[in-house]
Amino acid sequence: MEYSPLGDRAGNDHGHDGNGPGDSRDALARAQNAAILAEQRLREAIDCLPQGIVMLDAEGRYILWNRQYAEIYHKSADLFRPGDRLADTLRQGVARGDYPEALGREEEWLASRLELLENPLGRHEQWLSDGRCIMIDERKTAEGGIIGVRVDITDMKQREESFRLLFESNPVPLLVYDPAEECLRAANAAAADHFGYTVDELVGMPAEKLFDETEWPRVRRLLATSCSEKDRFWRQFASDGAELESVLFTRQSMLDGRLATIVSVFDVTERRKAEALIAHMARHDELTGLANRAHCRERLHEMLEAIRHGEETVAIALIDLDNFKPINDSYGHHIGDAVLAEAARRMRALVPRKNALLCRLGGDEFAVIVQARNHEKIHNIARSIISAIAEPFVLADHTLHIGATIGIAMAPQDSIDASHLLRYSDLALYAAKADQRGTMCRFEPHMDTAAQEKARLENDLRRAVRHGQLVVHYQPLIDLATGGVEGYEALLRWNHPERGLLYPDSFIPLAEEIGLIDVIGQYVLQLACREAATWPGHVKLAVNASPLQFRNGNLLNIVVQALAMSGLEPGRLELEITEAVLMDRSAQVATLLAAIRALGVGISMDDFGTGYSSLSYLMNYPFTKIKIDKSFIMGLGTEPNSKAVVSAIIGLGRSLGMTVTAEGIEMPEHLDYLRDIGCGQGQGYLIGRAIPGDQLPHEDPRRAVA
Ligand code: C2E
Ligand code: CA
Ligand code: CA
Repeated sequence: MEYSPLGDRAGNDHGHDGNGPGDSRDALARAQNAAILAEQRLREAIDCLPQGIVMLDAEGRYILWNRQYAEIYHKSADLFRPGDRLADTLRQGVARGDYPEALGREEEWLASRLELLENPLGRHEQWLSDGRCIMIDERKTAEGGIIGVRVDITDMKQREESFRLLFESNPVPLLVYDPAEECLRAANAAAADHFGYTVDELVGMPAEKLFDETEWPRVRRLLATSCSEKDRFWRQFASDGAELESVLFTRQSMLDGRLATIVSVFDVTERRKAEALIAHMARHDELTGLANRAHCRERLHEMLEAIRHGEETVAIALIDLDNFKPINDSYGHHIGDAVLAEAARRMRALVPRKNALLCRLGGDEFAVIVQARNHEKIHNIARSIISAIAEPFVLADHTLHIGATIGIAMAPQDSIDASHLLRYSDLALYAAKADQRGTMCRFEPHMDTAAQEKARLENDLRRAVRHGQLVVHYQPLIDLATGGVEGYEALLRWNHPERGLLYPDSFIPLAEEIGLIDVIGQYVLQLACREAATWPGHVKLAVNASPLQFRNGNLLNIVVQALAMSGLEPGRLELEITEAVLMDRSAQVATLLAAIRALGVGISMDDFGTGYSSLSYLMNYPFTKIKIDKSFIMGLGTEPNSKAVVSAIIGLGRSLGMTVTAEGIEMPEHLDYLRDIGCGQGQGYLIGRAIPGDQLPHEDPRRAVA
């Protein structure tokens, strides 16, 4: 059809205009011209509109349409003729297949389309055979005609379609929420899967139903905004009641002309469970499930903060299991673990859940922290724990006797600082253990002074090792029969810058405790061997070795090295060891002693008579010498049994082929007695004190005392 409906009609009308009086004809002609002009202007105006416009009269006949209208319906535009009924063009269009929606249901489609034309209800959409989608908006005019607007919404429809696809097949659970109705307008398959409902069940569901009741007010606010908070976790419930956790991203949008919120649900349920598990593991002990050291500290801090401005107290009771180490060593870790678990179980029953925490700090060390009105509560708990742990443990056919010793420190009395309290309870525990196991002890300030003193000493000792403040003095060992010097015992001294010369009893135990004894032992051995290498060839060197030096394997190397570096002949060296070395009865010690002896180095049993003095030790290990402890020698005049013991040892040594040395000879009569009963060697202040190497006379020291 030629596109110019208005022009044609205007032309026809003009043609009918023929008779009438000249004036009125002129007037009429002017009026007609004006009308034509007005119509032309109207047409030009509506041609400028981006929408397609059509006007129908009361009978549904075309009056006019614009260029866009003709373009939209370019397939059926050949059917449009002014005065034709839209219903007819529709019918023909349907017959030609211009309206794909009508295919197969032509009459039905036509009927509903005409119904809409008759009673326009606002907008509806219409698909055309060329794949476009048209939005139709029709209204009745005052004269009963129709004015219709057409908008090509194909692009929007395509966008909508891709959005729908993106929405429906998105692996992320997505919801469309209606903030006005507070319900869900849409949900995708992933959302249905996440919540355990069908999509149909979700659509129309009040959103509140999915969320935690207490969180709903905040969720509702979130759903009415655009928000992408990554670290906020929201609780939801699946259809089966299972708890879910998600991060929610919300985007406000207009959908079908209504405000809507698109909600992306990022399921973090598993991640949060794993995180919670890790967090739990970081704060709890695996074996017993009790709070661990970190957790204990944290709670202690909290409790201390809580009592800062009040009347209450916080107490920490440090609990150490007695006998645990030997049981663990002899029955194995399985039983050890079972003991710990059982001890934890017993204690758990005695520690209140409120304002108290039971912790395992490590090994066999537990702690209870309690916030209470006064010290009575912690004392009661501590007492009940001691008696509960004192009950026998029956585990896998073993009946084991454990016990608990407890040290207690209190805030604010002792300190308000967590680290101090922990240390103080440790000191109190230490004091309790030193006093009597199976008891409890409150911290007292003097314990701290002792500890501080020890800490200072430790510091000094480490510095002493670095700065060469340790020196070795030598005390002579003489042949009692001839009085000739047979050797010297190396005795360690500490040249303390402030406290003067310190004797080994005041620092060797500390060195053993803090793990410095190996370094010191090696130092003494090297220094003494070097010194002894300068002595006459028949003079021997005796060096003391700590039992701890036997625990790690390199004593043999240290001996070999000291001999090699000094060039001292191995037969001139003797190691003095005490029975403590042998108490382990380990094969390692036996092998080590045999290896040292195999070098040619002598081995002396020091302080004999003070320990078990087991005969089997003497027979089973390669000893070359027995040193009778000085307490027997010094008791020779006063202790009735001393003489018997001393002569028995001398007899024993002789029959085993070992040298016997008497230590601590201070009195000439003791020296005479010992020589008379056949004691081979002597040592003591009477013979000579330990002196620095450079002062050794290398002559018979007896002349000095004789
Ligand atoms: P010990 O092995 O029994 O050494 C003998 C101790 O008795 C020495 O004390 C010595 O000075 C002292 N003494 C000697 N004659 C007499 C006497 O007539 N009367 C009295 N009352 N005492 C006498 P010192 O030097 O104080 O050493 C004490 C302990 O320290 C030693 O006892 C030894 O067990 C240990 N010790 C010394 N030096 C070392 C060392 O280098 N390494 C190790 N691990 N321990 C050492
Ligand atoms: Ca000794
Ligand atoms: Ca000794």
